[in-house]
Amino acid sequence: MRNRKPSVIVVAMTTNNATLAHDREPESTLFGESLQVFHRAADLIGLHPRIRLELEQPDYEHIFYVTTQVGDRLVPLEAAEVANFADLPSSSLPTNAFTPLFDGKLGVKQDALRGATIHARDGVLRLASGVYRVTPGGHIRLKAYRVQHNQARGPYKGGLRFHKDVSLDLFNVLAAEMTWKTAIADVPFGGGKGGIRMEPRAFTKDELEAISLRYMYKLKQLVGPNLDIPAPDVGTNAEVMAWLLRQYSDGERERHAMRGVVTGKDVRIGGSKGRVRATGQGVAYCIEEWYARRNKPLKGARFIVQGYGNVGSCAAEILTEMGAVCVAVQDADGSIADPNGINAAKLSDYVHQNANNLKRSVHGYADAQAISSSDFWEVDCDICIPAALGGSITGSVAERLKAKLVAEGANGPTTVEADLVLEKRGIELIPDIIANAGGVTVSYYEWIQNKRMEQWTEAEVNSRLERAIKNNYRVILDIADDTARKGEEHDSRGFTVGKKLNTRAAAMVLALRRIEAHYLLEGFSQ
Ligand code: NAD
Repeated sequence: MRNRKPSVIVVAMTTNNATLAHDREPESTLFGESLQVFHRAADLIGLHPRIRLELEQPDYEHIFYVTTQVGDRLVPLEAAEVANFADLPSSSLPTNAFTPLFDGKLGVKQDALRGATIHARDGVLRLASGVYRVTPGGHIRLKAYRVQHNQARGPYKGGLRFHKDVSLDLFNVLAAEMTWKTAIADVPFGGGKGGIRMEPRAFTKDELEAISLRYMYKLKQLVGPNLDIPAPDVGTNAEVMAWLLRQYSDGERERHAMRGVVTGKDVRIGGSKGRVRATGQGVAYCIEEWYARRNKPLKGARFIVQGYGNVGSCAAEILTEMGAVCVAVQDADGSIADPNGINAAKLSDYVHQNANNLKRSVHGYADAQAISSSDFWEVDCDICIPAALGGSITGSVAERLKAKLVAEGANGPTTVEADLVLEKRGIELIPDIIANAGGVTVSYYEWIQNKRMEQWTEAEVNSRLERAIKNNYRVILDIADDTARKGEEHDSRGFTVGKKLNTRAAAMVLALRRIEAHYLLEGFSQ
């Protein structure tokens, strides 16, 4: 829990409203904890008290519900029960009649019985893949969120997460992170984040489409290319963005030219080339710059990556292309290692292009050794890239890491305690708000292309991204070194604070200085 800053309390009291200070008292939450760095940086730069108040709570917290209908499920029978149905003849259903789901269940399509030969007893039937009990579908209700944290620099911008462990508290953290990140990336957006509490792998594609459409139906009046612009995050992708775009524009004539309501779309419907790989690409550019500053070769550097979804797999592939060697990977369902190097592109095919890999996991990958999830963190390496969920590098993980550099592909992967351990052990850090800013930077390029109805080449996108991310990272490193200068392409004058800082604090100083400029120059609406 963070300590309250006296300056904030004084300001609250000067409003002559005793309850105001009490209203703002944060509970012991993830959000409260995540603001520690914000408050430290705000103190360092003497942030205007009213700007501090504007930023320490989100502008809007939307909570709503999404209802939908899910189809019947075929649930695998417990082994002990299967014997009771030994004499049950096999049924035959067309193969496209059901969708295999990550938990072994089969989602039954509406017209599954057409062309089927069914032998059922007590609601049980036998298929070539096993013996199943039919459980009826029905209507369900899912809790949904959109937090709009701050729009001083432009429309709210941030991903949509479909995951079972989301909460308002978490979205408050992630939306605020987007406010800092869009400022660091220097794109004309504010911060937002949202999503649905659900396990997307437990639904068929048709059901996911219905859920996504219903989510946008509820959100339609609150988002737009100049209002709030969602993008993919954990559990969502270009397919989900396409459904959201359709729901936003369907039947609304003037909205057909508003493709920029979501970014991360397929390139065939207004997405930007390079967007799929952009976040991983940005992680790789930051690491490349870190090595260049030290005159060390990235070629041959060994890295481990946690999370092999969009960010982790793209970062691994790109770093491998740059000559680094991937020696271990962990995801939600397994950990693998190979000291001689894992072929990242081949692993991506195994995880993402293999229809039988329903968990989309590295588990079972034949060309590496399976290791325990705890051993993963102790694999000998130079770089550690957390690219899964928040909070994975705890104090005890940080004590065991062999890496010399942690590059945060994920949002908030390092706990406050772990930050202290890393600093004590001299392990350097590229903080999330710059390391994974490649995604939102290219989202901005997509948004501009949509506004201009243009399509840039992948080479153009990547060269803009490389310049943008490396220059913003250089400004952060200068703030950390307390060296204000105008380099060939970057200018850190006006950002340093008169003493050396760690990179996380330096990144936050840059974000706050850029946000502060809007309030100081534009003032406050009354
Ligand atoms: P994704 O859904 O594509 O992949 C998530 C990965 O994390 C999967 O491999 C999953 O197995 C793994 N994972 C989940 N729980 C885990 C656990 N407990 N232990 C180990 N691994 C676990 O998501 P993504 O888009 O790659 O996002 C990953 C992270 O990067 C998130 O923190 C996200 O907020 C952040 N991020 C994403 C983008 C983007 O453009 N997609 C941009 C910026 C930041």
